[in-house]
Amino acid sequence: MRVAGAEPGQGGVRPVGEVFDPACRRCPRLAAWLDCGRAKHSGYHLAPVPAFGDAAPRLLIVGLAPGFHGANRTGRPFTGDHAGILLYRTLHALGLASAPASIDAGDGLRLHGVRITNAVRCVPPANAPRPDEVHRCNAYLTHELESLSPRAVLALGQVAHRAVLRAIGARPSRFDFAHAAVHDLSPVFALVDSYHCSRYNTQTRRLTDDMFHAAVSRAAALAGLIPGDGDAD
Ligand code: SF4
Repeated sequence: MRVAGAEPGQGGVRPVGEVFDPACRRCPRLAAWLDCGRAKHSGYHLAPVPAFGDAAPRLLIVGLAPGFHGANRTGRPFTGDHAGILLYRTLHALGLASAPASIDAGDGLRLHGVRITNAVRCVPPANAPRPDEVHRCNAYLTHELESLSPRAVLALGQVAHRAVLRAIGARPSRFDFAHAAVHDLSPVFALVDSYHCSRYNTQTRRLTDDMFHAAVSRAAALAGLIPGDGDAD
């Protein structure tokens, strides 16, 4: 499905981006949650998780938030937990990752033309960030999108989808989230939606390997990273 006619910024105030602060504590609930975790998990990252991947990506992948025992432990998005299994395996199958698994931040994994970030940089209780937390962290996503200028963005889940739209000043209500939907936000980028590759979604078969492979392939093709039927330009 392709949705055309995007007008980023229409009707709204242009978002102001900010350079990511790795020591950010703007969200009191999340900062307190991190402080609480330090008492039990001394070896964990337990801080805002920076983006990972190519410094000049054509494709930016946006997830929800760090998992407690995944990115919050290792300090790298989708690394060390179930959610990253399908993501990195798919990227490797498409030639966009140097290895099929992301184990820890020191494993030497490299991404080619791809960067991975999250709508919310700090692990939230129950994997559920509040709207005000997504809103606060959006300034970092705005800056990433402005400074990186990817040709395509892959949003993993509805929260990421709405965060991406908000980050460029587009009205989320104009673009419905749907798995495999492609939203033409030209001249900014093409936005591709996918169900999140979470344990719940994959184990319930809401998201199959084939479904995810197709969505990532579509985004990579729109980014010009692999051959495909669509080009963002
Ligand atoms: S979620 Fe984002 S804005 Fe909130 S404290 Fe963490 S890094 Fe800062």
